[in-house]
Amino acid sequence: MDAILKHPLKLRCVACHAEYDPLEVRYRCDCGDLLDVVHDLDALRTLDLRALWDQRWGSRRFPDDSGVWRYRELILPVEESRIVSRMEGNTRLYPAGKAGDYAGIEHLLLKHEGENPTASFKDRGMTCGITAARLMGATKVACASTGNTSASMASYASVAGMEGIIFIPEGKIAYGKLSQALAYGGKTLQIEGDFDVAMELVQEVCAKLDIYLLNSINPFRIEGQKAIAFELLQQLDWQPPDWIVLPGGNLGNNSAIAKGLAELYDLGIVRKKPRLAVIQAEGANPLYRMWANKTPFEAVREADTIATAIKIGNPVSWQKSLRGLEWSNGVVEQVTEQEIMDAKAWVDASGIGAEPASCCSIAGAKKLREQGVIAAGDRVVGILTGHLLKDPDAVVDYHTDNLGNRHIASTFANRPIQIPATLEAVEKALGA
Ligand SMILES: *Cc1c(COP(=O)(O)O)cnc(C)c1O
Ligand SMILES: [Zn+2]
Repeated sequence: MDAILKHPLKLRCVACHAEYDPLEVRYRCDCGDLLDVVHDLDALRTLDLRALWDQRWGSRRFPDDSGVWRYRELILPVEESRIVSRMEGNTRLYPAGKAGDYAGIEHLLLKHEGENPTASFKDRGMTCGITAARLMGATKVACASTGNTSASMASYASVAGMEGIIFIPEGKIAYGKLSQALAYGGKTLQIEGDFDVAMELVQEVCAKLDIYLLNSINPFRIEGQKAIAFELLQQLDWQPPDWIVLPGGNLGNNSAIAKGLAELYDLGIVRKKPRLAVIQAEGANPLYRMWANKTPFEAVREADTIATAIKIGNPVSWQKSLRGLEWSNGVVEQVTEQEIMDAKAWVDASGIGAEPASCCSIAGAKKLREQGVIAAGDRVVGILTGHLLKDPDAVVDYHTDNLGNRHIASTFANRPIQIPATLEAVEKALGA
C-alpha cells in the first residue's frame, strides 16, 4: 500500500494515541474514540510547501486546479491518477459589504464555500473521502446527512462509479439538497427519526454490510476540509486573520480547520494562530452548553433549528472540536433563530447570499463584536458554508412573513408586491 502514498501517513486515536494503518478501513480506535490522519511533518519540513503551493495557484493542470489537491502534500499525498476530483474549492473571499456593516465589523471577509461544485464545503471533504474509498477498493459508500453531505456524496459517488447510499432524517430536509441527492442518483433512504438516529444507524449498517462510511467521522473527510483554511490563508498571502468564524453542527469542519492551521503553524508556514469562533443555533447547542457552563458533554435531545444543516444534537466530533478551540484560544457562541434569519437577510442583501446555517457566522460575529470579544480593528473571516439556493423555502418564507410558526419575525423582509398589470400601478408601486 505504501507505494500508493508519496509520504507515509498514520491513523492515530485522539484519546489513547494507538496507531493504525491509514489504508485499513476503520473510523474509530479499538477504544471507541475518533482517529486523526497524522502526517510526517518532519519529512514535509524539508519541502518549501508555501512556494510549491503558490506556484500551483491558478494552474489549469489537474490536480493543481483543485482547491483541495493543490495542497495534497498535507492532505492525502496520493498518486495523482487515483484522485477523484471535481476541481472543488477555489472559492471566493468577498468583502462582506452590508453584512459587515450589520455585524459592526470593519474588516470582515466572507469565504463562500457555497461556490463548491455541489454548493457546500462538503465537497472538500468528499473529494478526499471518495479518493480514500477508491484506494480501499470500496464500491459502495454511505452517509447520514441533513442534506449537504448527501448531495456531495451522491455527486462524487457517481463520478467515481460507486453506489451512494444516503440516510436522511424524516421531516423537512431543505429542497435544494434533497433534489441534488435524487438527481445525482444516490439511493436515498428516509429514516423515521432525526439526524442523530440516522447517524447511529448508518454506522451499524456500514460495519455490517461492508459499505464505506463517508460521514465526518471519517478521518479523510476532515483532511480535505482543512483546505478551507489553507486556501483562505493563501488568498490572504499567508497573513492569518485574527478570527475565523463558522457554524458548528456535527463539529467536523471547525475541527478540520483547526487541524490544518495547527499543521501550518508547526511547519512554520504561518506564525500566528487565528482564533476560531464556533457558532451554534440555540436549539442545537451541545458544544455551547458545555463551553458556557463548563459541564461535561451532553447531547441535546430533539435538536431543532431553521438552520437544518446544523440541526444536530449529538455531534460526532465534539472532542476534536474542543482540541481545536483550545489550540486557537477559540470561543463558542450561540445565536437565536431570529438572529440567524436577520443576519441571513443582510448576507443575502449584500449580494452574496448563503443558506441559513452559514449565516450563523455573521450572526455570531456580530454578537461577539457587541460583547467586545472581537475587537474593533480585528480582521475577521466568516465562512459561508452553503449556497443561498440550498434552501429557497427559508428565503421566501422570511420575505413573505411566513415564519410565524417558528416565532421568527420578518424584520428585514423584501416583500413581493402584487399589482394589476397597468402602467399606473407600476408607477405607484415604484413611487414614481
Ligand atoms: C455541514 C454543514 C455545517 C456544519 O458543519 P459541521 O462540520 O457538521 O459542524 C454548516 N453549514 C452547512 C451549510 C453545512 O452543510
Ligand atoms: Zn484509542
